Amino acid sequence: MSDTHADLIVLGAGPGGYACAFRAADLGRNVVMVDPRATLGGVCLNVGCIPSKALLHAAEVIREARHGDDWGIATGKVSVDLDKLRAKKDSIVDQLTTGLVGLAKRRKVKTIRGTAKFTGDKTIDIDGTAWTFDQAVIAVGSAPVRLPGWPEDDRIWDSSDALELRDIPGKLAIVGGGIIGLEMATVYAALGSKVTVIEFMDQIAPGADTEAVAILHAALVAEGVTIHTGTKVSEVKATKAALTLSCEGGFEGKIKADAAIQAVGRRANGNLVDPKAAGVEIDDRGIINVDASCGTNVAGIFAIGDVTGNPMLAHRATHQGHVAAEVASGHAAALDTSLIPSVAYTNPELAWVGLTQAQAEDRDIVHKVARFPWAASGRNLASGGGDGLTKLVYCPQTHRLLGATIVGRNAGEFLSECVLAMEMGATLEDVSLSVHAHPTLSETVGFAAERALGTLTDL
Ligand code: FAD
Ligand code: NAD
Repeated sequence: MSDTHADLIVLGAGPGGYACAFRAADLGRNVVMVDPRATLGGVCLNVGCIPSKALLHAAEVIREARHGDDWGIATGKVSVDLDKLRAKKDSIVDQLTTGLVGLAKRRKVKTIRGTAKFTGDKTIDIDGTAWTFDQAVIAVGSAPVRLPGWPEDDRIWDSSDALELRDIPGKLAIVGGGIIGLEMATVYAALGSKVTVIEFMDQIAPGADTEAVAILHAALVAEGVTIHTGTKVSEVKATKAALTLSCEGGFEGKIKADAAIQAVGRRANGNLVDPKAAGVEIDDRGIINVDASCGTNVAGIFAIGDVTGNPMLAHRATHQGHVAAEVASGHAAALDTSLIPSVAYTNPELAWVGLTQAQAEDRDIVHKVARFPWAASGRNLASGGGDGLTKLVYCPQTHRLLGATIVGRNAGEFLSECVLAMEMGATLEDVSLSVHAHPTLSETVGFAAERALGTLTDL
């Protein structure tokens, strides 16, 4: 092999790219992975999943300490040393990104720091050096959408800026009540900011189950977050004293803020690699469409992760990465994207998979719903948990699950039981007759299934 020829080249070293590169190397391929970032791990490890979860953990510690009084535990006034908190978050990111370097080396995956671009059907430019390849995987992720017409101002942040923890703004406006907006609201409200969330649609976390979202909405309000739904920001003015956001719709008026986070979605990065030079089709949103085997319209060129569109989630990228590596190496593999779980790591967590009740109704799918309210969960009460709900959508004929939504403490952890049940085609009987340890929050899944079957004795 020449020094500038790759058997398999992976563009991007995020959770999609590195998972693909490592799996392909494990299958015996000679792999080159390219990324302009100084560290491996993409958005997820550097400026996404991991730093946000570290700060959400800190937020939970702060809340627990503040509520200690309810349990007779006096902690005194909670104070936050921002430099220490930032250093802790950065050290966790550093530990994981450094770990990836070792994993790449052990697998003999060649990593190149550089920006890659297709120049022909089998050629790529990496920072001025021409490379050839047999197969390629595009895993270049996504970037935050910037709202047009906003002024240039250091107090206007995207999610990466918000995770830098520059300061704790007195008043923080968050535009977009999707997952990023709600996780950042959870963090900064705990840190002491007066947070206002402005969401364009008529509920936060649009698309998630309305009943479950109402529980999260109420909990955020109880933590001091103001939420305006059905509201659009029509103008933003920046003066030395403050940012002023003019709002229309559900809330009409002006919001003054010391900082504002734009959290209105992410745009696929497809155009960054000039895929058309290799004949790869790309749509006007920068998305490269793929089939279940992650193949593009060009044989031997695959695409995975955020660059392939929604849902833009790390675990989808990773699974697609494995599929692409396997298919590229001559194995049969495919990913059914209808069962990708979503989790907002808010307080409480909101987690769901498959169909919501509203989606089943809209699609005229025969269904029934079973709920288990967490007021009846011993473990929830004993852990100081607030309101919560486990909700199963199921087929009344087959008793198979069509979807599940859980809102409550650690919901994301045991949503996996519902994902597994759906993957395995488990019935309500399978779920309810599997013995759940007591007292656990996961019992609520078994209880919801029992409730559907009429065998529940805990309500
Ligand atoms: P990315 O992680 O975006 O990686 C793409 C890589 O490609 C980047 O490193 C980039 O530098 C590189 N690249 C770009 N251009 C080129 C080029 N021309 N040549 C070579 N390389 C290039 N998802 C979850 O599932 N759970 C979460 O808790 C979660 N939290 C998040 C929190 C935040 C604040 C954000 C912003 C996102 C979060 N996500 C979460 C989403 C998750 O980060 C993404 O879905 C995931 O990172 C996508 O992985 P990827 O490999 O497709 O792309
Ligand atoms: P999102 O699409 O989840 O939410 C954006 C929100 O902004 C939507 O609710 C939308 O209605 C609203 N919006 C759009 N334009 C608006 C406007 N002009 N004014 C007010 N509201 C407006 O996007 P996001 O929250 O930015 O997250 C981006 C991606 O990152 C998503 O795909 C998400 O899944 C992923 N992510 C996942 C996690 C997680 O899994 N825990 C965490 C963070 C981010």
